Amino acid sequence: MTAPSGDPVAELKILEATALACTKCDLAEGRTQVVFGSGDPQADLLFVGEAPGQREDEQGVPFVGPSGQLLEELLGEIGLTRDQVYIANVVKCRPPRNRDPRQNEIDSCKGYLRTQLQLIDPQVVVTLGNFSSKLLLNTEVGITRLRGTAYEWWGRHLVPTFHPAAALRGRGQVLEDMRYDFSLVLDILDGNLAPEAGTEQEVRASEPAADPQQLGLFGQ
Ligand code: URA
Repeated sequence: MTAPSGDPVAELKILEATALACTKCDLAEGRTQVVFGSGDPQADLLFVGEAPGQREDEQGVPFVGPSGQLLEELLGEIGLTRDQVYIANVVKCRPPRNRDPRQNEIDSCKGYLRTQLQLIDPQVVVTLGNFSSKLLLNTEVGITRLRGTAYEWWGRHLVPTFHPAAALRGRGQVLEDMRYDFSLVLDILDGNLAPEAGTEQEVRASEPAADPQQLGLFGQ
């Protein structure tokens, strides 16, 4: 690995090249492509999904299927395109039959997301769905209770919302709730909302601690 250049965009490219050749876990064997992440490397807004699905695995780009279309629709409603944000997943390779990522796979991959967050340095992180929301907020609280609030999170704002796939299944209320969460994001980006309700510590204190290996996972 080349020494840090002090240029975060260049460093992100180096990190991507490293990830594309990654064989740290068994997911490397079944993947077509590593789905590192895409979008503006200097974005103010970064989305974190779970793991690539079939289409993402084929194309090497996150959220290109129906979930991605809905994500783009919701972004459009707050005046943004996917090129203006950065989209990543917790796990960069597709788990077989889209099963949930396993702990060893998360552990192997978490350094990539952590460094992506450090290099892109977004103002707002949006976690999509239970998986990434629980992981980044280090809680067992489910997304239905977590969402609707902007959390202060390691010096930035974190807005958990439903996974677009949930809205595609349910539409209706889930979609309306996602719209509300996206409006919070816009308020933060516009400087109209300081996160007030709930910090990572409060979430952690009010619920059983998550797997200790996750503690400080995304610390500075
Ligand atoms: N679901 C995810 O969580 N990530 C993707 O990239 C696609 C679907």
